[in-house]
Amino acid sequence: MKINILTLFPKMFEGFLNESIIARAIDANLVEINVIDIRNFCNDKHKQADDIPFGGGAGMVMKIEPILAALETVSGKIIYTSPQGITLNQNLVNILKDLKEITIIAGHYEGIDERIIETKVDMEISIGDFVLTGGELAAMVISDAIIRLVPGVIKKESYENDSFFNGLLDYPHYTRPAEYQGLKVPEVLISGNHKKIDEWRLKESLKRTYLRRKDLLKNREFTKLEIKLLKEIEKELIE
Ligand code: SAM
Repeated sequence: MKINILTLFPKMFEGFLNESIIARAIDANLVEINVIDIRNFCNDKHKQADDIPFGGGAGMVMKIEPILAALETVSGKIIYTSPQGITLNQNLVNILKDLKEITIIAGHYEGIDERIIETKVDMEISIGDFVLTGGELAAMVISDAIIRLVPGVIKKESYENDSFFNGLLDYPHYTRPAEYQGLKVPEVLISGNHKKIDEWRLKESLKRTYLRRKDLLKNREFTKLEIKLLKEIEKELIE
């Protein structure tokens, strides 16, 4: 998979690209991330990538010419990071991870000239109902969520149990020591009984989802076991 990121601030991506799972995925050629400096596509001698808004008002607007010129060098779907876009969620990430190449435009200041969105952008994506200073962090969030699902980057079993993947929140995790300053891990997890562990984890996932994100359960087709566990959870909660 190839992800192109158009930005005025390429240095912001250094840590992201050079640490941990993302760095390993790049080293193993599982993903290619191409950070493109929009300023390299400015033709004037001052390399001016932004200008004052028509109609007046505060803030600058990113110019159309350099962005369109940069977009000439890429292919695939074009995404613009924007608080006005569709909100990113795991379903959307699952769709994006199957694309061969995508390009993410990181806006800055008041954003990019609207004509770029009208003519070139396939999808505007928001990472939540708040406003960032720029789209760089949003581009990293989108890329990170996609890359961890690219085959080979992390174990399938790891992300399959993560929150949202199967429509539930994840169960709680514990590691050694089994007891610390009187705090014990649940007995079942050290029992070695994998059937019981699986059932405990499913029940915890259901309980968390029920208590924190009931909306996720709305259209779920429950298995027989899940119905039994949910009944137990409801009973325990009123006791
Ligand atoms: N004037 C814009 C508005 O109100 O819709 C906000 C501009 S914001 C200060 C600068 C840039 O940050 C945006 O162009 C966008 O690329 C990025 N950005 C800000 N908030 C975002 C969010 N919630 N999700 C994705 N990108 C965001």
